[in-house]
Amino acid sequence: MLHVRKKLCIGCGSCAQVCPTGAITLLKKAKINLSRCINCHWCVAECPQGAIQEEIPTISELKFEFRKFHREMGQLYIKLSQLESRK
Ligand code: SF4
Ligand code: SF4
Repeated sequence: MLHVRKKLCIGCGSCAQVCPTGAITLLKKAKINLSRCINCHWCVAECPQGAIQEEIPTISELKFEFRKFHREMGQLYIKLSQLESRK
């Protein structure tokens, strides 16, 4: 998961210019919309300040993501079962 270190960002906009999905907005400092980010890391390579970095998730964040994934898989399983039972 990428994030912008606000203290390092000088708001030059280079990252937003190279981002292929338009995931970066600039309001004095860059901000990444992670739902649009495809993790290509072009912005990381472009940033002159090294301000865009990988954020190491905490254990509680990983647990949260795991539960979310588990719940989504459960919902998908239910939908697939419903589709199969219609056959
Ligand atoms: S990793 Fe790629 S898609 Fe994500 S914000 Fe950076 S340039 Fe955009
Ligand atoms: S390229 Fe780096 S310094 Fe420039 S706006 Fe993006 S994050 Fe900030």
